[in-house]
Amino acid sequence: MYGLTDEDLAIQARARAFADELIPYEAQAELAGGELPAELTAAHTARARELGICATNMPQELGGGGNTTLQQVLVQEQVGRVTNALAWAASTPPSWLPAVATPDQIERYVRPAIRGEREECYAITEEDAGSDVAAIQATARQKGDGCYLLNGVKWHVTSFNTADFAFFQAKLDGGPHDGEHAMFFVDLPSPGVSVVRTPAYSHTISHHHPIVAFTDVQVPAANLVGAEGDGMTFAYEWFRFERLMVAARCLGAAERLTAEMTAFAADRRVGGHPISEFGLVAGMLADSLTELFAARALAYETARGIDRGGDVKVAHAQCSMAKLYCSEMAGRVADRAVQVFGGRGYMRENVAERFYRELRVERIWEGTSEVQRAIIAGQMTKRGPGALA
Ligand SMILES: Cc1cc2nc3c(=O)[nH]c(=O)nc-3n(C[C@H](O)[C@H](O)[C@H](O)COP(=O)(O)OP(=O)(O)OC[C@H]3O[C@@H](n4cnc5c(N)ncnc54)[C@H](O)[C@@H]3O)c2cc1C
Repeated sequence: MYGLTDEDLAIQARARAFADELIPYEAQAELAGGELPAELTAAHTARARELGICATNMPQELGGGGNTTLQQVLVQEQVGRVTNALAWAASTPPSWLPAVATPDQIERYVRPAIRGEREECYAITEEDAGSDVAAIQATARQKGDGCYLLNGVKWHVTSFNTADFAFFQAKLDGGPHDGEHAMFFVDLPSPGVSVVRTPAYSHTISHHHPIVAFTDVQVPAANLVGAEGDGMTFAYEWFRFERLMVAARCLGAAERLTAEMTAFAADRRVGGHPISEFGLVAGMLADSLTELFAARALAYETARGIDRGGDVKVAHAQCSMAKLYCSEMAGRVADRAVQVFGGRGYMRENVAERFYRELRVERIWEGTSEVQRAIIAGQMTKRGPGALA
């Protein structure tokens, strides 16, 4: 099905096996605040590497998988079948980085990240700048000694508690590119980087999202990513990749939920009948699979378009369509799954309850649904709908 090659099917099968190995640990993680014993987490990370499903987006010459975009989607789809972010162990470093990193940065950050020895986090969003990244107020000022001084308070810094370096985005303060964006590597911990607070979020995962203050943090010019003024370009490239991967993970979540609610509905008897025989329940099953089928076709075709080397603006809009549709589809499927499970669907030990909470953020991070719609409509008016779909 879906015209997958033998190679596609092989990596998909390895990722699926990995997800199946993790699923038995979900309820344990949920009830322990998202944490598993450290040795178990280390074993999962090692297993993901052994199966060759990490760094699928990285070039082979740097030690990555060098996989096609479609294969990356196939892996992330399986990752998405697991709750509590346990499958984030199949990590992918930033896909845009090798093209812009200096040889020194490749050695210090990219190769170690591909080997699984270093982990990044992103410090971009601020209290008054989320959807509108251009509104950030963080600053980067060149000192006379070849260093930059970074200042700003960043929100929702995912994985700050596990990362050992951050991408910090700021506006340049002074110099020929005054007011333009720039991005920097900041090693963690570094003097001047401190957690303001760590809010609790809806999902239960071991990766926290603290508010982090950067106060007079000094970094060498060698830590500038690309050139001064390039910062926004990286954000766009990152969004394109990550939006498609969000879509992929939502496919996996919807597949798992559809399978679990179908099995439950066939088994659960009420008034002597399996509940799948009740038309209203059958409708929820049928709508879920139908929407999943449509969403998967959209995400796979978007990936194939990227692999064919199509127009980058078209790919940008299609990644937005994939993220928009797949995340909203998965949210609807999770809502139905809770309903099909009845009271059990409201218990935290139930996969539907966990996904019901966990999937909500997929419509918010990496650009909200409203932002995706604005991007799609913008490209429709510029290029015509026929160019995009
Ligand atoms: C769990 C979690 C993890 C995150 N991880 C990170 C991270 O690691 N690094 C990082 O930098 N950020 C991270 N974020 C931030 C995330 O990207 C932002 O929350 C998101 O982009 C939305 O920004 P905002 O929260 O400021 O909402 P706002 O931009 O204030 O938006 C509020 C509402 O207004 C709507 N809106 C805004 N602009 C428009 C528009 N032009 N048209 C129509 N409607 C609009 C939005 O859709 C939304 O409904 C994370 C967020 C969460 C919740």
